[in-house]
Amino acid sequence: RKLAEQLEVSRNTIVRAYTELEAEGLIFSRMGSGRFVEALTPAYASPRNHWHQRAYSTLASAPSHMAELLAVTDKYPDTINFAHGDGGKHTLESSGFSDYVKSSAEQLHSYYFTSVQGLPELREHLVDWMDMEQISSSEQIVITSGSQEGLFLITSLLARPGDLVVTEMPTYFGSLQLFQSLGMQIVPVPMDAEGMRIDVLEGILARCRPRMLYTVPTYHNPTGWTMSLSRRKQLLALSEKYELPIVEDDAYRHLHLEKEPPPSLKSLDQSGNVIYLNTFSKLLFPGLRVGWVAANRPFAQLLTRMKELSITTNTLGQLALAAFLREGALKPHLEVVRQQYREQAAIMAGHLDRFFPLGIRYEHPAGGFYFWVSLPEEIHARKLMNDCAKQGVSFTCGDMFLSREAEQPFIRLCFTHERSEQIDRGMRIIDDVLQTRKE
Ligand code: PMP
Repeated sequence: RKLAEQLEVSRNTIVRAYTELEAEGLIFSRMGSGRFVEALTPAYASPRNHWHQRAYSTLASAPSHMAELLAVTDKYPDTINFAHGDGGKHTLESSGFSDYVKSSAEQLHSYYFTSVQGLPELREHLVDWMDMEQISSSEQIVITSGSQEGLFLITSLLARPGDLVVTEMPTYFGSLQLFQSLGMQIVPVPMDAEGMRIDVLEGILARCRPRMLYTVPTYHNPTGWTMSLSRRKQLLALSEKYELPIVEDDAYRHLHLEKEPPPSLKSLDQSGNVIYLNTFSKLLFPGLRVGWVAANRPFAQLLTRMKELSITTNTLGQLALAAFLREGALKPHLEVVRQQYREQAAIMAGHLDRFFPLGIRYEHPAGGFYFWVSLPEEIHARKLMNDCAKQGVSFTCGDMFLSREAEQPFIRLCFTHERSEQIDRGMRIIDDVLQTRKE
C-alpha cells in the first residue's frame, strides 16, 4: 500500500507487477516475511547448482498435495467434493464399463502378462482414436499406469536432478510434485487466456537451456484456459529452434463443453519434438490407472525399456479398455458425460454469479473439469477452504498449483465429480460461509 502511495499508482498495479515478477522467477515470497529479489543469477540459470545435495533432500522438501487430496474422501466420506478432478462415481454405471471388466476377467488366464509396451490391441485402438498423421503405428504408443507414470518415465529419461524443466504457472500440482521430487528446477512461465506466454518463454530460452517443457495446452488444469492456435505454432517453432522436447499433457481434450478445441501440438508437430501424454482417468475413471504416451518410434522404444522397470500396466484394465474401444463405446459415453458436465457447469456458474457482488471473478470454462475462481483481496483462499471443509464441502486452493510457497487468491472448483443436486447444495454452503464472514 505504501509503495502504491509513493509511486502514485493503484494497489492492484503493484500486486500485478509482483505476480508477474514472481512468475518469471525474478522475485520470491516467504510467508510472513515479505518478498525478496532472487539472487542476481536466478538459481535456474546454473544447471549444476549443487544438484547432488539437492537431489537427496528433494523428496522431503516437495509438497505432498496428491496424498493430501486423495485422503479427503477417506477422512470426510460425506464431503461434497469439488476437489477431486474426475467424473465421479456415477461414471461407472453410465459407461457400462463394469460389463467389460467382467467379461475381460474371464480371459485373464490366457494373459499372464501383456507386453511391456502395452496390450497390442489397445495400442491399435488408440492409434485410431487419436487420428493423427504423426501417430500412425501402435509401435509409437506405450501404455502406462496413468499419465502420471508416463510423465515420470519421460522426465526420468530426459532430465537429471538439477536440470531445468519449463512449465506454465500455475499448473497441475501432480506434475510440480513429480518434478520437484526428482530434483528438477522448475522454470515457471506465466499464462493468460491464450495459454502460455510465448514472449516470456522466448526470453527464458535465450538465457538458459531447459531439458524439457511440460504443458497442458487444452483446458488447462487449474485455469481452464486453452492455448490459441497461433501460440501453438509459435511454441513449436521455438521447440525446433532450441531443440526443446515438449511434453503435451492432453488429459482434457475430449471433454469440451462447447466447440472442439484447437488441434493438439502433436498433430501440428513436424519435428518429432512433441511427446504426447493422455489418460483414461478423465475419460472414464482414475482408479483404472491406464494412460498412454505417443511419440516417435525411437523415443517410444526408450520409454518401453524404462517401463520394463515396473514390468507392465495392469492387464485387466487394458483388456477391458480394448473391448470398450472395440465396441465403439467410448464416443457415446463421452456424448452423455459432456451433456451432464454442461448442465453441472451451468449450475455452478449460476451460484458463482450470485457471489459476484463480493468481487469474485471467473471465466466459464470451454471444457475440462474446473472453475478457476479469483477471490477479492479480503478473502483468504486457504482460510475459506478450511472453513468450507468444516461445513462439509471440499475444494482446492490456488497455492497448490504453484512451485513456490506464495499466496494465490484463487480457488479451483471441480464441477464434474458431483451431480447437479450436490453441486447446488455444496455451492449454497460456500455461499453461507462467505455470508457468515461478512457478519
Ligand atoms: N495430467 C493432468 C493435467 C491432470 O489434471 C491429471 C489428474 N488430475 C493427471 C495428469 C493425472 O492423470 P492420471 O490419473 O492418468 O495419472
